[in-house]
Amino acid sequence: MIIPLIKGLSLTLKRFLNPWTCETEAYPEKKPHLAQRFRGLPELQIEEDGKEKCVACGLCAKACPSNCITVEGAEDEETNRRYPEVYELNAFRCIFCGFCEEACPVSAVILKDTFELSTYKETGIFDKEKLLDLTRKRKGLKGPS
Ligand code: SF4
Ligand code: SF4
Repeated sequence: MIIPLIKGLSLTLKRFLNPWTCETEAYPEKKPHLAQRFRGLPELQIEEDGKEKCVACGLCAKACPSNCITVEGAEDEETNRRYPEVYELNAFRCIFCGFCEEACPVSAVILKDTFELSTYKETGIFDKEKLLDLTRKRKGLKGPS
């Protein structure tokens, strides 16, 4: 009875005295350290010309197990380029599985490190511009005026 108790206490003491064993992060004052493979909110990527990379094929929406992506495609009459007229992602339903990223043939949707999604609003819908703005912000670019 006493031996397991001593063993337990010595382990606690060892951990307590070793500064490398654990670290309490002071979130939200300090941004937490995220693992390299952390999967946050899927974000829409942009081309060099500032337009969305997405070609509105709908594969991400088909692959999504939570049915949280809506895509409606259209075609640019000048360039014959397909683009998503509507692209919506319901962040309340997303389970951050990454299937949309895997399914996308042009790497237009990538799960980055956005995870602070709490809101007092009733909807967690991110529309196309909101999802593109996340990428624009990362690259220091301005949105369409
Ligand atoms: S990460 Fe998973 S759940 Fe979220 S939008 Fe992509 S496929 Fe759907
Ligand atoms: S994000 Fe990728 S998979 Fe989804 S509609 Fe656009 S091009 Fe297709």
